[in-house]
Amino acid sequence: MNWPATERYYPTAVPGGLGLVQDLLNTASGGRPRRPDLLAEAADAQEWATTALRSWAAGTGRARVRLTLTEEDLPHLRRLREQLRRALAGRHDAAGGDTVRFTSCLLQVSLHGDATLTAEPEGEGWRWLTSTVLGEALLAQATGTWQRLKICRNEKCGGAFYDRSRNNSGVWHATRGCGNAANLRASRQRRRARERENEQTGTPGG
Ligand SMILES: [Zn+2]
Repeated sequence: MNWPATERYYPTAVPGGLGLVQDLLNTASGGRPRRPDLLAEAADAQEWATTALRSWAAGTGRARVRLTLTEEDLPHLRRLREQLRRALAGRHDAAGGDTVRFTSCLLQVSLHGDATLTAEPEGEGWRWLTSTVLGEALLAQATGTWQRLKICRNEKCGGAFYDRSRNNSGVWHATRGCGNAANLRASRQRRRARERENEQTGTPGG
């Protein structure tokens, strides 16, 4: 299994088709040294999609798919990526974000003679990919893995990671690195606040 976008940031093995959602999120520019946005140019996007969809087909037991992306697909895909990122990052915000309706993206649902149900994405280009990604997210929500797909709380990182902690309490893609940096910043801030307080109380008069 090869997830070209996610593997730029960390090795991973998200279960089943959810890997495609994670990989789309991780096409964004990030990390140090800064990796490029894989959805900025059609050639990069095509290369990414071809490899990621090969992994998706293998991971979900489907026939191989061939998707063609052009320049026109890119803004739609970048917007989808941002909508997903914002929703995942704001999952526990009390205020809650906006609801997005994808009216031009279709999933063809079939009820088979043996009572199994399947959902196949319809359309081409960004529409097909959007249907596929949202279909996988919906399935993952039903199986409980969606709740484990998260955006790293370190804003400089912002990577999409799969939380394997027992009680699903992870907030950083790695405690070493992003978690350490955040803890260090917080303790420095606390120390500075303490120092300021001491300076103020040490000032005579007032
Ligand atoms: Zn991180």
